[in-house]
Amino acid sequence: MSLTKSQHNIFENLNFIDLAAQQQSIKENLERAVLKVLEHGNYIMGPEVQELENELASFVGCKHAISCANGTDALHLVLRAKGIGPGDMVFVPSFTFAASAEAVKLVGATPCFVDVSEDTFNMDPNSLKQAINIAREHKLNPKAIMAVDMFGCPADYDAINKIAAENDLWLLSDSAQGFGSEYNNQKSGMHALATTTSFFPAKPLGCYGDGGCIFTDDDELAEILQSLRVHGKGSDKYDNIRIGLNSRLDTLQAAILLEKLKVFPQELKHRQQVADTYSKNLLDFVKTPLVQKNYKSAWAQYTIVLPKGLDRVKIMAELKQVGIPSMVYYIKPLHLQTAYSKEPRVTDSLSITENLADRVVSLPMDGYLNLEVAQAISEKLVDIINDNK
Ligand SMILES: *Cc1c(COP(=O)(O)O)cnc(C)c1O
Repeated sequence: MSLTKSQHNIFENLNFIDLAAQQQSIKENLERAVLKVLEHGNYIMGPEVQELENELASFVGCKHAISCANGTDALHLVLRAKGIGPGDMVFVPSFTFAASAEAVKLVGATPCFVDVSEDTFNMDPNSLKQAINIAREHKLNPKAIMAVDMFGCPADYDAINKIAAENDLWLLSDSAQGFGSEYNNQKSGMHALATTTSFFPAKPLGCYGDGGCIFTDDDELAEILQSLRVHGKGSDKYDNIRIGLNSRLDTLQAAILLEKLKVFPQELKHRQQVADTYSKNLLDFVKTPLVQKNYKSAWAQYTIVLPKGLDRVKIMAELKQVGIPSMVYYIKPLHLQTAYSKEPRVTDSLSITENLADRVVSLPMDGYLNLEVAQAISEKLVDIINDNK
């Protein structure tokens, strides 16, 4: 199959995630914001941190936004604040980034791996129900559920909250990929007792380094989190009242995020258009991500499932050859990774998770990807799939 010159050119310099396009479009504002911090010199907990927290809380519609050093600490801090520790079990999907289960291990508790739904990549409520029975077999106390908004799409919060209530568990939402998403017309941050997010550069709302945030309406939890992120401080700075972490968001990152938050809503709209372009063209050839009516994804990733029997390595190589980058998230589910292979799981093998890990491919996605390029990527992928059948 030969390429015409114009087909080739359209993918020139195509990035998997183009962070430079965003920077270019708001460059002056970013520079002004960074310079302002250099001038006032309050590098730790400067005024921009509080300002950002106010803006984030109002964006989400929640009472408290507590910023911290990264999305992993955000999970860790919530588990610590809720007193989760040895002997406790937390239910975590296996099809996620390592940080979800890592946070559970960091507080000394045990994760129990749950399978996901094939259509949404998110925690399967039926698998969760089954897993809660497993906890009793392990003589551990089932305490909490960690739902993950995989690839930016909210988990099935109605079903999961119902199971949580029936089993006296509380819900933590790992929305590292889902900031800006919506479920039942409410933003991520409103569906659980506490929701965490990450500002890692490649996330939907990313800074220029590490950053994270916790959202909650619970006043008491918010107060403990504010203490924990600064070494467990009390009202007297030199009398720490609990063992905490050093997990503050840098003032510089807060200043950068304030500028990025201004363009975030329009970026989310653009991500949706990119996803629509992909889905419209790919629907008949691969399994496209399902986002149901009452859901809005933040489209951290646009992830397809290749038909059974197709050689993923070969397809990705052929995409790469014409200049289209693609990635596999996640090639190795957590329950199969060395550090987590001995942790309990709902069934010996998590068949949906393992099947997805073998067949998923994520395509270029960001808030600036040209829609004509998205169209051309779709067409090229269809050609490649047809050639590989
Ligand atoms: C990125 C990510 C995290 C961790 O965020 P960091 O800011 O990198 O620590 C946690 N959970 C999920 C699902 C993620 O994608």
